[in-house]
Amino acid sequence: MGKMFNFRFGRRLAVGEESYDFPPFRPPSEANSLLLRVTRGCPWNRCAFCPMYKHVKFEKRPVQEVKQDIDTARDYTGGNVETVFIGDSDSLVIKRDEMCEILSHLHSVFPSLTRVTSYARALTLKRKSLKSLEQIRLAGLTRLHIGLETGSPRLLARMKKGAGVETMVEGCLKAAQAGFEVSLYVLVGIGGESDWEEHALETANVLNRINPDFIRLRTLTPQPDTPVFEWWGEGSFKMPGPETILKEQRALIENLSVTSQYLSDHVSNYAPIDGSLPGDKTKMLSQIDTALERLADDAAYKADLEGMRYLRRL
Ligand code: SF4
Repeated sequence: MGKMFNFRFGRRLAVGEESYDFPPFRPPSEANSLLLRVTRGCPWNRCAFCPMYKHVKFEKRPVQEVKQDIDTARDYTGGNVETVFIGDSDSLVIKRDEMCEILSHLHSVFPSLTRVTSYARALTLKRKSLKSLEQIRLAGLTRLHIGLETGSPRLLARMKKGAGVETMVEGCLKAAQAGFEVSLYVLVGIGGESDWEEHALETANVLNRINPDFIRLRTLTPQPDTPVFEWWGEGSFKMPGPETILKEQRALIENLSVTSQYLSDHVSNYAPIDGSLPGDKTKMLSQIDTALERLADDAAYKADLEGMRYLRRL
């Protein structure tokens, strides 16, 4: 029977008589990776800005089913896979032995793997023992993408992140100690028009304590079915304009004392500010200053940036 791809149940890619269950979300840096799902949805699912898994019931997938997906992927790729992203939002919530069994199978089926990454919540990392994390790292998971969003305790609580500053720091430092590359997401604009400075300064503080390998920026875009969208609609949350967004990024970068890659690698961002810190700090600040000057003088540029808010998704 010829094999064909089609979507089934909105979450499974049917492959002939088999089916491959793929995650609907992955970091932009994993655009070319094989996607492998060990859980479905988010065990927390309460962040006020996040619509990602609102309509997905959280489930852990049976290990045998995941291994079958790995075998199916081998049939379709010929084993030629170098990078894998494991979904969904908090994969390390499954048992250590199960994760190690999946990783071991993954690496035996795809011996040329150079990178295997996953999203992880800081609270889950904090709850895992260092020894467990080290074993998962040794089994072949190499990088963790963690949503810090902000270093402001007040904003973390307002956004119902489910983890405070100390949990963020402890979870991320433990992951780094276990040998993982740590990639942290910061949500630009999360403080609105009023609290952008608090967000920038406190986030810089927390990032300085963690010193992650990567700092990745996304810009808040209110999405339907989220509390932030309601707050925006009723006027209790004021979306920051482009000038505030750029000032916020400027304050963040200026106050960072990390040795990290800083990447605006998400479609939601207003300006492509990227660089290696600390070496590129001066250049990055100068790029933002140029954009701010242009905003002040060029009404068409300002209108373009403001319009982007309605075109982009979190
Ligand atoms: S931001 Fe992450 S932890 Fe929060 S609800 Fe969304 S997927 Fe879950």
